[in-house]
Amino acid sequence: MPNDKNNTHTDTAVEIAGAGPAGLAAAITLARAGRQVVVHEAHKEVGHRFGGDFQGLENWTTEEDALTVLEGQGLTTDFNAMPCHSGTFFDAAGNRHEIKSNETLFYLLERGPGPGTLDSALLRQAQSLGVEVRFNSRLDQMAGEGILAAGPRAADAIAVGYHFETDLADGFWAICDNELAPQGYAYLLAMNGKGTVKSCMFSGFKQEKLYVQRTLEAFQRLVGFEMKNPRPHGGSGNFRIPESAYSGPHPLVGEQAGFQDTLWGFGMRLAISSGVLAANSLLNGEDYDTLWQRELKPQMDTSVVNRALYSLMGNHGYSWCLRRLASSLNLRKSLRRQYQPSLPKRLLAPWARRRHESQRKDVTCDHIDCHCIWCREACCDHA
Ligand SMILES: Cc1cc2nc3c(=O)[nH]c(=O)nc-3n(C[C@H](O)[C@H](O)[C@H](O)COP(=O)(O)OP(=O)(O)OC[C@H]3O[C@@H](n4cnc5c(N)ncnc54)[C@H](O)[C@@H]3O)c2cc1C
Repeated sequence: MPNDKNNTHTDTAVEIAGAGPAGLAAAITLARAGRQVVVHEAHKEVGHRFGGDFQGLENWTTEEDALTVLEGQGLTTDFNAMPCHSGTFFDAAGNRHEIKSNETLFYLLERGPGPGTLDSALLRQAQSLGVEVRFNSRLDQMAGEGILAAGPRAADAIAVGYHFETDLADGFWAICDNELAPQGYAYLLAMNGKGTVKSCMFSGFKQEKLYVQRTLEAFQRLVGFEMKNPRPHGGSGNFRIPESAYSGPHPLVGEQAGFQDTLWGFGMRLAISSGVLAANSLLNGEDYDTLWQRELKPQMDTSVVNRALYSLMGNHGYSWCLRRLASSLNLRKSLRRQYQPSLPKRLLAPWARRRHESQRKDVTCDHIDCHCIWCREACCDHA
């Protein structure tokens, strides 16, 4: 391992590119240890690309509750988080599958710059510890010690739809149907009179509009919700397990490294944990690759296998899967098992990795004459 990765320079500020969950978690960890930190954020505010999106902080990859884990990492939990235990899934034939869990399955939270969001809470904590956050400051090169936390570099999946106001009761609904969300799932989330409806697709990006339209029609038919003041929203996710998560001497964290839940795109916890690990590697002179490969890679490897299996299933397979999920009394426990490394999943890993690689070269988005969310964002943000 090169020495320059592990030198600690305590007299100069650590620079961080990106004020997402990964960058802010890293900044907070460093500041709590007494380091000077400057975070550069390309946009004028935190969570700009999410602007009021609802997301689930998954609660199944660790035995310990997700919020307790955050507290253990020294991070704030002072944001609105609605514990979700049960919800409704539909298969392609419109059959309902009610799923439930004795323990919280995920916490529904809001992303973006507004009050009560995860992003605002992390920003507040970072600033209260003395972190300097420079907005409208794009950092593309780093001279000294720093961490790259600039979000996705490619689109392996996109989630597109609307934000809206609604009379719908709080809750979540999802549809597993390749005609609505190829190899992914369509979802509807509602909390406190606001909602989001999306098609999360892993293929077919060029037909984004068609899938969003079908998703809307399906939820209107199956759940009967009305959108008030709908605003289009979408984004992309980058799933990759790198050989090394360094760029030169600088650790890459969150989706900048490709760290994601390849099965379903629940990337927030991986982003946060990788930020904390990268900060610890700078503080303690440890090799970051060793840390994330020990703490995060086993779960990500399993998630790649889960994705490969899921993408083979088709609508009949999804339906079978949903029946199984609905028969589980403690879904949190069942999902936890699915995300744990096991001998069969280790054996399937090389096949799954090859399959996932080829999915990333998905010809349904060749960037030519394509107006999917990734191609739209790429022209202004990622080029
Ligand atoms: C529509 C959608 C729904 C999702 N739903 C869920 C969910 O339900 N649950 C879940 O766990 N995850 C979900 N995710 C994934 C989750 O949002 C990401 O995994 C997580 O935000 C990654 O955090 P990050 O800090 O790595 O990147 P980001 O949150 O993207 O933050 C990166 C930041 O860096 C800034 N930036 C970029 N370039 C530069 C630069 N050069 N200099 C300075 N700043 C820069 C960006 O403006 C941005 O603020 C969803 C993603 C999308 C798109």
